[in-house]
Amino acid sequence: MDLTSNEPFWLVKNGLLYFYPSLKEDCKTKILIVGGGITGALMAHQCMEDGYETILIDRREIANGSTSATTSMLQYEIDLPLYKLTDIIGKEAAEAIYWAGHDAIDELKTIVMQIQSDCGFEKKESLYYAYSKKDIPNLKKEFKAREASGLNVKWLSKKEIQLKYGLHHAYAGILSSQGASIDAFRFTHDLLQYNIKRGLKVYDKTNITKTNYKSKKVILTTHYDNKIQAEKVIYCNGYESTEIIKENFVKLLSTYVIIGEANDKENNRLENTLFWNTAKPYHYMRTTADHRLLIGGEDVEFVNPSKRDQLIAKKSKKLKQKIEKAFPAYSFRSDFAWANRKLMMERVKDAFSEVKPEVEFSHFINKPHNFADIEEHFGEEYIVHRKGATRARKGEWGMIPGSQGTSSFLVLGKGDPHSFQSCSHGAGRVLSRTQARKQLNLKEEIASLKEQGILHAIRHRSNLDEAPKQHIH
Ligand SMILES: Cc1cc2nc3c(=O)[nH]c(=O)nc-3n(C[C@H](O)[C@H](O)[C@H](O)COP(=O)(O)OP(=O)(O)OC[C@H]3O[C@@H](n4cnc5c(N)ncnc54)[C@H](O)[C@@H]3O)c2cc1C
Repeated sequence: MDLTSNEPFWLVKNGLLYFYPSLKEDCKTKILIVGGGITGALMAHQCMEDGYETILIDRREIANGSTSATTSMLQYEIDLPLYKLTDIIGKEAAEAIYWAGHDAIDELKTIVMQIQSDCGFEKKESLYYAYSKKDIPNLKKEFKAREASGLNVKWLSKKEIQLKYGLHHAYAGILSSQGASIDAFRFTHDLLQYNIKRGLKVYDKTNITKTNYKSKKVILTTHYDNKIQAEKVIYCNGYESTEIIKENFVKLLSTYVIIGEANDKENNRLENTLFWNTAKPYHYMRTTADHRLLIGGEDVEFVNPSKRDQLIAKKSKKLKQKIEKAFPAYSFRSDFAWANRKLMMERVKDAFSEVKPEVEFSHFINKPHNFADIEEHFGEEYIVHRKGATRARKGEWGMIPGSQGTSSFLVLGKGDPHSFQSCSHGAGRVLSRTQARKQLNLKEEIASLKEQGILHAIRHRSNLDEAPKQHIH
């Protein structure tokens, strides 16, 4: 099953955080966990806490399933309202499920703190709002059910919602005090790394082709043809559980999410809250720790990846319209250019790997070379145009580019206000492009680069405008 389109946000944001080997030898363990998403990582953590010898495998790269695409709104409420769940399984069981979700958020926080994960875990409130007037009576029922179960909830009127969040098209809402958000991709890696240090073994790109259940053990064959013998197997294979469960009780959907550019100013009123509504299918929305607004929804009732991906542009447009309607004063800009650069980066990486297979890549650094942006400096708003230099807010990755004959440098920003929070320009021109093409000698330039062992793109006289000799550094 193809679980996500090519560019899930969290994967792009974090890059490849850690590398894990694949499992190509026979081995024995007490517990085998199949699936290295957030569920598998949490399960492995618990097994290690309890002292079990544990191996975790994944058929893809770690956390590259739905964990790389999730909006990670941590809410105690499940998709089925409490009053409806009560009708199906009774009050006690329904409330127990809601309270388990409630407590899980605090337990997750404890783990985040225990492993000191930098996954942006933030406690938040959660607003479930009526998308249309006719949804208010059922929302009221839900409010009463939650209130009766002891959950900390508050009823907000249309006006209160508008005043508090600037959110239009919300007719009333239930505000819950319990909720949180997280970067599940980073958390999964951090949790596995923490446990690897105390003996957990993690392998990715390892698929199971055959499973043989015996009375006291399970023997699994991988696609490398080696065998894993385990006393217990725990499947944490997410939406792909449908491959191993014969009963046809799951209807999978595809959902769409867009994410905006960082916008710390306009997100002010939204940053403490998770939003979702009574629309069918519902919309869900939150801000990220790096001040982006993300909104999802527009689900379709199929999982066919090519059909799903063909709809991305149309669905993105619809979701953007939802934001414009909900927050008329908010200037939302999708990060399209960024997705495009990511794709270019992937192509460059492929090309590099073809020529130099031993090259390893760091995380993805998203830096435009020449660009203008509206920024605040010294208490005023400016249009800042950086040509060559890149932005270098405190802790932000930047780049000082060299020429084709010298190194470039990755830098961590110091946030110096006197440079308008920019790093230096790097290589500069001593000859105009035309002069360089006229004055430099093509053969000499190529020979000098070859001598230094530099892969370069000087092929013709017309490329001499980028030759190292016409740059100062
Ligand atoms: C767009 C989107 C938004 C979402 N928003 C939210 C939200 O706001 N809040 C929320 O709580 N949930 C949300 N979800 C759901 C949430 O993402 C998932 O519930 C969660 O990520 C599931 O994690 P997992 O580890 O169970 O599954 P996955 O992350 O999919 O991991 C399962 C892993 O098992 C591996 N695997 C499968 N079969 C095998 C096999 N046979 N052998 C080896 N490995 C195998 C896969 O490669 C995969 O890595 C959202 C999901 C999506 C797609």
